[in-house]
Amino acid sequence: MNQYKICVLILLILTIFSIDFVHAENKDSLELSGKVIYLDPGHGGIDPGAIYKNIEEKNINLDICKILKQKLEEKGAQVYLTRYGDYDLSVKNTINRKRSDLSRRVKIINESNADLYLSIHLNSDSSSTWRGIQLFYDDIHDNNKKLSQILEKEMKKHISLTRKSEEINNLYMLRRINIPGLLIEAGFLSNPNDRYLLKSKSYQERLSNIITKGVITYFYRP
Ligand SMILES: [Zn+2]
Repeated sequence: MNQYKICVLILLILTIFSIDFVHAENKDSLELSGKVIYLDPGHGGIDPGAIYKNIEEKNINLDICKILKQKLEEKGAQVYLTRYGDYDLSVKNTINRKRSDLSRRVKIINESNADLYLSIHLNSDSSSTWRGIQLFYDDIHDNNKKLSQILEKEMKKHISLTRKSEEINNLYMLRRINIPGLLIEAGFLSNPNDRYLLKSKSYQERLSNIITKGVITYFYRP
């Protein structure tokens, strides 16, 4: 091998190693690296959740979760969804389908050993004037209150209609999940302004960015 070829070979090896080094460095500097997060898009299949004309809550919940998954993954997190399509999680031929669906979600999340879960829903009211985003948490886990406070603070910075988060200790699912997490009611499908926002991809992206920021703060604040 002549000198020129050796030089080219050394250069090539150095290039490959430096690319690898940059990759490793990037991965380590991602804020959510090593964190496992479970997202739970509410409802699905025969259970549409809240409805307004042909708009169904289940579809918007899933859309938000898919975008949020991407945003969290961009920060290094490993993200899973309780459902990836339009179906419910109930066991076949069960008498209480809703209960079965919720208990499967609880089981999946509890057995995942994830660091955090977020259940995404939309609110609805008989009066169309109610609007805004709100967080609900159960005191089953010590960190739930802290998580709700951090997320609420982050939301208030960007979404003026952020309602005060509420502790609610009688929701079947929230009461039974033993890893930190909460329920996000992302807005009222019954309100025209909220509905317009919730349907738009740009708002879903904005919301996902805000939640991601809050999640990062949660993991890094003692
Ligand atoms: Zn719902």
